Amino acid sequence: MNIVLLGAPGAGKGTQAAKLVEKFGFAHISTGDMLRAAVKNQTPLGLEAKKYMDAGDLVPDEVVIGLVKERLQDEDTQAGFILDGFPRTSTQAVALDSELSGLNRPLNAALLVDVDKEVIIKRLTSRRMCRDCGFIGTETDATCPKCGGEMYQRSDDNEETVRNRLDVYENSTTPLIDYYRGCELLVEIDGDRDPEEVFANIQDVLGF
Ligand code: AMP
Repeated sequence: MNIVLLGAPGAGKGTQAAKLVEKFGFAHISTGDMLRAAVKNQTPLGLEAKKYMDAGDLVPDEVVIGLVKERLQDEDTQAGFILDGFPRTSTQAVALDSELSGLNRPLNAALLVDVDKEVIIKRLTSRRMCRDCGFIGTETDATCPKCGGEMYQRSDDNEETVRNRLDVYENSTTPLIDYYRGCELLVEIDGDRDPEEVFANIQDVLGF
């Protein structure tokens, strides 16, 4: 199954993607994770992307489209994939359609994880991530509950950057909701619930 996960930053896309990957073995394609890895490794692409990410702005379309196209060539994506954080603009959505139709691997669903803006601001500013395994927790997790690694706050999870990321989401990414509704792929999920409940709902609507 090939799925796009839509939703504001902090809506829980990463958490739900991890659950889908663990249970069904889909490949997880998170452009945010790929870009953070490039920043950590100080690659030329990472150095270029960092300034946009630190400000909460979008990295240029051609950069992320190139990353995703390359990733879709990997063998593990053949068994199905979850795109998490991509597409984020209409240009990216159109490029994705054209790539997938060239590969003859169409999308099965665009899942919108919907959460109220003020809830998101609280969630993101208290969010912590594991440096080793990427587990997403909260400020109450002194160490990673999954692997014991060090938890840290993403540099773009401060309130000012979070507000900008939400504005960027509203302006650039929400038009994609109508785009996927028009393609009859949109499925809306209430994300303001316990992650296990959200996951059960997702499995239900996907027919698992
Ligand atoms: P995320 O982890 O998905 O919240 O992404 C973190 C940051 O990476 C975003 O605020 C953007 O700066 C950048 N980024 C991730 N995915 C994309 C994308 N599809 N298009 C442009 N920038 C992206």
